[in-house]
Order: sequence, then C-alpha cells, then structure tokens
Amino acid sequence: MIETCARLIAEADRVLFLTSAGMSADSGIPTFRDKEGYWRNFPPFRQKGLEAQELASPWAFQNVLPHAWAFYEWRRRNAHENRPHPGYDIINKWIDTRFVDAFIHTTNTDGYHIISGASPGKVKEVHGSMWRLQCLTPCSQDFWDEPAVPLCDLDYDTMEASNFPLCPRCGSIARPHILMFGDWDYVGHAEQEENFMRFGREAVDLVILVGSSGGVPTNDYIALQYKQARIPVININLDPAANGIVNTEYLLTMKGKEAFENLDAHLPG
Ligand SMILES: [Zn+2]
Repeated sequence: MIETCARLIAEADRVLFLTSAGMSADSGIPTFRDKEGYWRNFPPFRQKGLEAQELASPWAFQNVLPHAWAFYEWRRRNAHENRPHPGYDIINKWIDTRFVDAFIHTTNTDGYHIISGASPGKVKEVHGSMWRLQCLTPCSQDFWDEPAVPLCDLDYDTMEASNFPLCPRCGSIARPHILMFGDWDYVGHAEQEENFMRFGREAVDLVILVGSSGGVPTNDYIALQYKQARIPVININLDPAANGIVNTEYLLTMKGKEAFENLDAHLPG
C-alpha cells in the first residue's frame, strides 16, 4: 500500500492536505478527546468537574476566566515546548519541490504547519490558532498575532491564570482566535478562507487526510466530497475505524510522522 500511495503522490500536481489531531499528536500535542488523559493533566479541573469542552467556550471566558485562560496558556506553553515533527517538513518539501500547487486545511490550532515553514497563504486553520488573539466582546472583527510565551501568569497548582492580554482597541479582555464550542463570537479569518476557496476552484488530483477523529469530522466530509468526485484520497490514521466516513481504499494505518517518512522514502528522487 505504501508503494501505491507513493505513486499517487509522485504523479500528483495539485494536492490538498487535510490534517487533524493525529498529525500533531506525534509532536506531543495532547488532543483532550481522551477524557482520562485530560483529567490526569489537570487535577484542579477534575475537582471542579470542568470538562475540556466547557473550558474551551465563550461561556468559560465569561464565567470562569482564570481557568479558561489557564487552559489555553497551558496549551500555548506545551506547543512552545514541543516542535513540529519531521512529517511537517516533508509536507513542506513536497509542496516546494514536487507539486504544481498544494494547500493545507487543518483543524489543529497549534499553528504547527506555519511554524514548520508552510507558506501562510497555503494554510487554512479552520478552527483558528492559539498564536492569534481577538477581543472577547468582540468590539470588532480584528484579530492579531501574539507569539509571546509565557503570555499570562499561570498557577499550575490551581490552574488559574492572571494578567490576561487585553484588546488594543477597547481595553477589555482578549481571548484566543480559536473557534470554541458554542462559539458565536469567533471572528474567523477571511483571508485564509478566501485562499482556500481560490485553491478549490481548480481541479485537485489527490487528497491526503491525516489523523482525523470521528469527534470532529470536518476534514472527513471534505475528503468524502472529493472521493465522490473520483479523486483519490489517501487516509493516514493509526485507527482503521477513522476511515469510516471517507472509506477510501488508500488507507495507511500509521502515525502521521511514520507515514510521511515512509512515503518520502518511497518517492523517486
Ligand atoms: Zn475590544
């Protein structure tokens, strides 16, 4: 199967990458879909019964602000301490040297594609990025880069943050530029959306779906649309059950890093 998939990549001109949690998990980014892992990381949240989906919400920023910002501050520090694995570099190398054009549509908020060197004009972070902020209110559609680590003060014992970032326009609290649960205030990223639409207007001849989970199947349904249009879809996922939606014949039951290293090794130089 690896040879078959490598041949599809070798022959492709315009490629769409659809990446999700399983891609960044190999870099040490926790997904928080696994509730026990989440509770283990955050005992204070366990005591208060605050689940990840509740903390990742505008409700939490309105009602338990120190905990809400602590959750994201922890994740920013974690993403800063880890690094994008070589699979990201391989994607970037293929885009630079192998394909006529390509685009990365990711549900991950760790910013790792852009941090690893992908051109920001070829990336859509459909759920936003933890490295950008917007106003909590929001007082405008503005968002801005905020790469500082640390950003807030963080008490790991209580998992409460303080010294929150502020909106430069109105002075109220800022929040991550991330699409949270039950979120009507996320201002979106018009430029990334336009770039993705423009890419999709021309024919794509290969789709590579990586590390998606049934919990957030955004990328699976995009892949399914292409498959129904008879475009080959390579699905890279350690869990074969994750092929349930797109149901492609080109399934690589591997981790993201391992799959890209193997595929790259099988490509003609
Ligand atoms: Zn504001």
